[in-house]
Amino acid sequence: MIYLDHHATTPPAQAVIDAMASVMAGTWANASSKHGPGQAASRVLAGARSVVAQALGCKPAEVVFTSGATEANHLAVRGLLAAAPEGRRRVLFSAVEHAGHLKLARDLAEAGVPVDFIPVLPDGTLQLDAASRLIGPDVAVVSLMAANNETGALMPVAEVAALTAATGARLHVDATQWIGKQLFAWSGWGADAVSCSAHKFNGPKGVGALLLRQGVVIRPTVPGSQERGRRGGTENLPAIAGLATALETLGAVADLDAEAARQSALRARLESALVTELPGVHIWSRGVPRLPGVSLLRVGGWEADVVLGRLERLGFAASSGAACSSSGSEPSHVLRAMGVPDGEALGAIRLSLGRTSTDADVDALIAALPTLRSLLPTAQAVAA
Ligand code: PMP
Repeated sequence: MIYLDHHATTPPAQAVIDAMASVMAGTWANASSKHGPGQAASRVLAGARSVVAQALGCKPAEVVFTSGATEANHLAVRGLLAAAPEGRRRVLFSAVEHAGHLKLARDLAEAGVPVDFIPVLPDGTLQLDAASRLIGPDVAVVSLMAANNETGALMPVAEVAALTAATGARLHVDATQWIGKQLFAWSGWGADAVSCSAHKFNGPKGVGALLLRQGVVIRPTVPGSQERGRRGGTENLPAIAGLATALETLGAVADLDAEAARQSALRARLESALVTELPGVHIWSRGVPRLPGVSLLRVGGWEADVVLGRLERLGFAASSGAACSSSGSEPSHVLRAMGVPDGEALGAIRLSLGRTSTDADVDALIAALPTLRSLLPTAQAVAA
């Protein structure tokens, strides 16, 4: 099976598996224990924290380990809101945040918190003028993703940071799809809090981090003494060591740029073949700056499941938009926010390349396109 779903998750690097196995076997003590084994675990934790800080350009004390990006996102928004001064109650989300994060938006709204959504343009990018209108003195937190997991469209983080800084609101950035794919600038962005998740950059699942700017206060959602009182619970040391190793393995800045260029070139080859070989292909957000390896597209009027089923039979694993929502037949909220009619959005399939994707993977898919075309049922004729 050729794996084309790297935005859902990525395979763990061998160095990550080795690091985790070694910590599980050798440093299993509780990092809060005062005895020798506990202190050894505490040193592993401190070492991992330094590696993460070094790789992401922040201070070790600014790293809060969590169970992944979903938790980091919740901690940021709920934690910053709870610590906001009187009179600042409104929370803003972009309309295309991750589905799990928008559930938090709904929960907050049901609990009586004023919540607003910053709309996007038909190309999937943020409406900055709307952001500028909505970010006022009553806003406690703005939560914006750095790059969309479905379309790959990049969001204007620095511009929004200028707006939040001018009004005194806190800015949380969900950089789950960005970190590991694009250069990350903790200081350049000017965000107060940034989420990431190890399994998106060849690390393990169930571990992530919230970077929290020094001096920014949050109320923990899971209180406890760990992580300087910002997130309770015995630290998942093997997973944290795996996250740190994954970040280290991504390599230097130059490697990141070269890898992004490699994936962009593979995608360009794939997209031009898709358009030529299949009927009625439309690729969303194609004209705006996007993450390098992803294409969100539909093939004529065929529903996503029809195309994905044939692709799977031919040996390719892809998904319809976000993995978390791909079991339902609801159209993607991202495409809806872009103004795409539901009938078209139900055709959305996402092909996402990653570090382990090869020329041969893309060649194999291109070679399979004529067969895929012949397998598509004619009853669902291409929409004009
Ligand atoms: N935010 C974005 C943009 C994502 O793509 C994902 C994962 N699909 C998440 C948050 C959730 O991350 P995790 O699986 O670590 O909870």
